[in-house]
Amino acid sequence: MSQNTPASLDFDPADPVTLTQALIRCPSVTPAEGGALALLGVVLSAEGFSVERPVFSEPGMPDIENLYARIGNEGPVFVIAGHTDVVPPGDLAAWTHDPFAAEIEGGTLYGRGACDMKGGLAAMVSAAIRYRRANPDAPGSIAFLVTGDEEGPAVNGTVKLLDWADRRGERFDHCLLGEPTNPAAMSDMIKIGRRGSLTGKLTVQGIQGHVGYPHLAQNPIRGMVRLLAGLEATPLDAGTEHFDPSNLEVTTLDVGNPATNVIPAQAKAVFNIRFNDLWTPQTLAAEIERRLREAAGNAVRYEISFEPTNAVAFLTQPGPFVAMVADAVEAETGERPALSTTGGTSDARFIKNYCPVVEYGVVGQTMHQIDERVATADLVTLERITHRLLTDYFAAAQHA
Ligand SMILES: [Zn+2]
Repeated sequence: MSQNTPASLDFDPADPVTLTQALIRCPSVTPAEGGALALLGVVLSAEGFSVERPVFSEPGMPDIENLYARIGNEGPVFVIAGHTDVVPPGDLAAWTHDPFAAEIEGGTLYGRGACDMKGGLAAMVSAAIRYRRANPDAPGSIAFLVTGDEEGPAVNGTVKLLDWADRRGERFDHCLLGEPTNPAAMSDMIKIGRRGSLTGKLTVQGIQGHVGYPHLAQNPIRGMVRLLAGLEATPLDAGTEHFDPSNLEVTTLDVGNPATNVIPAQAKAVFNIRFNDLWTPQTLAAEIERRLREAAGNAVRYEISFEPTNAVAFLTQPGPFVAMVADAVEAETGERPALSTTGGTSDARFIKNYCPVVEYGVVGQTMHQIDERVATADLVTLERITHRLLTDYFAAAQHA
């Protein structure tokens, strides 16, 4: 290993716990690289991976470092995706352990990114290293797509990294994304899809006036209540085989009127819909517009606009690959995980345009929280599951 590498390795990266600690000690709060990708670069190139570190830019946004690594020249290409950036630690005094010290106490590893998702990524890197060391002539390829821009605007991260790889002729067959999918135990949950997200902004116009002379004014709050009731009157749908019903939540309602004797001129509301695979952002926006028109009749003057969204609902159909992931989890934990599409969005929504993607990682209970932490035993379990998955995957490829 060269002398001027950012981190001279004094540990074996095939140990997922030590590798997680080393990554947590890199303070990579978005958009800072913090040494985390450099460390992964050192680790992976020492194991024979070719490593690239593309930096992506966008006017008005910070440049973001990313990493692409691959070992092997043939298909199938099994790609492992993740991010090294983390959310800010928040109130440092509230942490019982320094968020960037990666201390272990009673089998629990503390630190920002422990579960989201330096722990998951480290366990998968360790598994790939162990697999390739024992199988240097294994068929196919293992690749890593790692971004430093998942917790931020996600503009200079996975989207551009996928496009960059595609333009270089890189083709992926299957992807495992190491986000923390388990609610409480390692046998809980694999994510095979995600809901979409659509945000709408609604403004109702009234006529400002004196509350004592309402016939000279028009209260927009009355109209707003009517429109929101219309939006929520009937469920958007009843859910599908793999998805919960789509759900609309009003997230804010603003009039900003400090006076008790004035009818305000305008009322605003914002709502967000998490929608299933029955909808696209376009068909859903059309349905919302239809409901508003019906509720408003001729009585309410309003405007509706939707924020641009790249969060569409998607599903990786259960099949041999999903079953192989579930088999590996069951073999190592003794229980079969649920196949789920719950929760927020993730970078899987971009990866699914290139290859089937399944998400599985450690227990996510403390992600983004004070005292974020992971059980060291879970890191070991995830390393074993990933190793088993790689073994099964490339064995199947050989016999295909
Ligand atoms: Zn994450």
